[in-house]
Formats: sequence, structure tokens, C-alpha cells
Amino acid sequence: MSSQPKYRFGIGFDVHRLVAGRPLILGGITIEHDRGLDGHSDADALLHALTDAILGAVAEGDIGQHFSNTDPRWKDCDSGVFLVEAVRLAALRGYEVGNVDAIIMAEEPKMAPIIPEMRRRVAELLGVDISLVGIKAGTMERMGFVGREEGIACQAVVGLELKKV
Ligand code: MG
Repeated sequence: MSSQPKYRFGIGFDVHRLVAGRPLILGGITIEHDRGLDGHSDADALLHALTDAILGAVAEGDIGQHFSNTDPRWKDCDSGVFLVEAVRLAALRGYEVGNVDAIIMAEEPKMAPIIPEMRRRVAELLGVDISLVGIKAGTMERMGFVGREEGIACQAVVGLELKKV
């Protein structure tokens, strides 16, 4: 018999390189910037971290196992597809999203003005109220690869709750 505790928690982390000639897509939002994140899909590191957190909470492996970066189906794909699928997998196991919290680590551009829109979009993808979606952003004080603007990193945690039957 599978174990179904009332709450399950998951953690996710992702990083993508910033390159010229790509749109910057983060939290499902296209952001005005001179460079974008490089990757097989739309490289939305925030949605990838959230997807991994949900998959982790139900011990369903990671995003790479479900959506291979060599599969042509996911080329330039909207990462919202991955997040919605992770929510569906969790629901199949009897869980719904309780809340999420995430950190964007980026030197530029400034994320604060876009965060309300990101929260709205992530809430929509998760199928939860916006009050259950925390997104924060910070710089790395010019240190390391984030500080040198070589990439953007994101971390996320999720709490899942056993669905009432
Ligand atoms: Mg990724």
C-alpha cells in the first residue's frame, strides 16, 4: 500500500545561461531584456524549479526524466506545459498544491516590477489562488555566475496537501 501523508514537501532548483538572441522568459512572462535564457525549451528556470519541486514532493523524479531535453516535442516549448503536467501527476497521487515559494537569483534586469504578473501567471498554471504563490528575487551582490550576469538561477519549494475525498 502506498503511503499518503497529509502533507508532502518538495524542493526544486534550476539555472540557465543568459545568451544573446533569445527572449527572456521567467515565471511564464516575457521580460524586456537584451539577452534571454538558453535551453531546449523556453528555458524558464522559475517554472522548471517549481516543476521539480512538485515532482520531488511526490517522489516522481525530475523534470529531465519527464521532459527530455533531446525530445523535439519540447523544443522551445512553453514550460507552463511541464508545470501543469507536474500538477496533474500530483493530483493522480491524491495531492493538490497547498502553496509554493520561490526565489529568483538574477543581477539584471530588476524583477520587482514583474513579480505581480509572474505570481498571477504561476497561480493560474497551478490552479490556485494568488495568495498561495510567493515569488521573491534578489541579486548575488555581483558575486559568482549570477553576479557576472552569465545566468539566472531559481529555487522553489512546494507544499502539497492530501485532497479531501
Ligand atoms: Mg531548466
